[in-house]
Amino acid sequence: MAEDQRQALLKGGQITVSEPRETEEDVVLNISLRPKKLPEFIGQKEITDNLKVCLCAAKQRKEPLEHVLLSGPPGLGKTSLAHIIAHEMGTKITATSGPAIERAGDLIGILTNLEKGDILFIDEIHRLSKVVEEFLYPAMENFQIDFIIDKGQFARTIKFNLKPFTLIGATTRSGLLAAPLRGRFGIFHHLDFYGIEDLSRIIKHSAEVLDVEIEKEATTEIAQRSRGTPRVANRLLRRVRDYAQVKKMGKISASIAAGTLDELGVDKAGLDQIDRKVLKAIIEMYDGGPVGVESLAATLNEEVDTIVDTIEPFLLKAGYLKRTSRGRIATKASFEHFGLKSKEKQEELFKE
Ligand code: ADP
Repeated sequence: MAEDQRQALLKGGQITVSEPRETEEDVVLNISLRPKKLPEFIGQKEITDNLKVCLCAAKQRKEPLEHVLLSGPPGLGKTSLAHIIAHEMGTKITATSGPAIERAGDLIGILTNLEKGDILFIDEIHRLSKVVEEFLYPAMENFQIDFIIDKGQFARTIKFNLKPFTLIGATTRSGLLAAPLRGRFGIFHHLDFYGIEDLSRIIKHSAEVLDVEIEKEATTEIAQRSRGTPRVANRLLRRVRDYAQVKKMGKISASIAAGTLDELGVDKAGLDQIDRKVLKAIIEMYDGGPVGVESLAATLNEEVDTIVDTIEPFLLKAGYLKRTSRGRIATKASFEHFGLKSKEKQEELFKE
């Protein structure tokens, strides 16, 4: 892997704050665990079924696939799907990310180098600047870009024809995408958190690739604590594997997995230290909420984007957090998770 690619992976959306910083070895292993063909992509059946039809139709027509927008929390397989699409179409993929494209000029080189049917993958597409985004519109729609040459009264616009390509955009926040950009995608899919069964299958497959022996109950134990996220599942598997190796334990059993995950601070519900920090702050400092996300971020010394993109989607999905117009609220399940009485319960007891 090229150094710049590796740096982009280390810096980019691949690493989230809710995961302790991954080592370079982790990043490389993550790539080796990435599914390469559609049948290797586990779960999200509705999406893969739909993609199969679109891919087959495009191949029959000998046309590039329509532009694809993939949304969903980090680590659910958006980048993997983009690579799979390129593999299935038998074309080349060029990957970049919204924040990496600072000026429209940065895109010219990329776009003019694309061959017919090639894939351009833009991760974090919601973070493209307005100017770059508008530059993309004619490229997406008519496979044309407008160059402006010279300045002032001599300025002229020259149209340049591109080869028909497929743009695959990935975003953790489709709501932030401008309507004209969203409207230019023909295929749109939202990836949701994975169930225990699918995660167990992913862990089993990764264990085979990593050449570690693992009992079925251990895959379930890891799956239950993976925040519904394949990337987290693979990371936890690697930590459990390290532990089993150092302790010379051979096959990974459910008790080895549970012991390692307890030590890592990942509890039975799959919440890690940062998840608990967020919930505890709402419960202890804001009396269960509601609290605005900005105040919460300031209290925790975290970025608002980190809370919104990587921490709260799972807490919302798992029912520990509620989002209301007045702010975030810790639910009854959240109070109970810490062995506390919920607000309603406290009020009931007070009345008695
Ligand atoms: P995203 O782009 O949504 O952040 P990635 O595609 O980078 O997520 O996925 C992170 C890792 O999780 C991949 O390297 C791969 O090992 C694993 N993964 C994600 N989705 C799947 C899946 N459906 N089946 C198998 N492994 C998956």
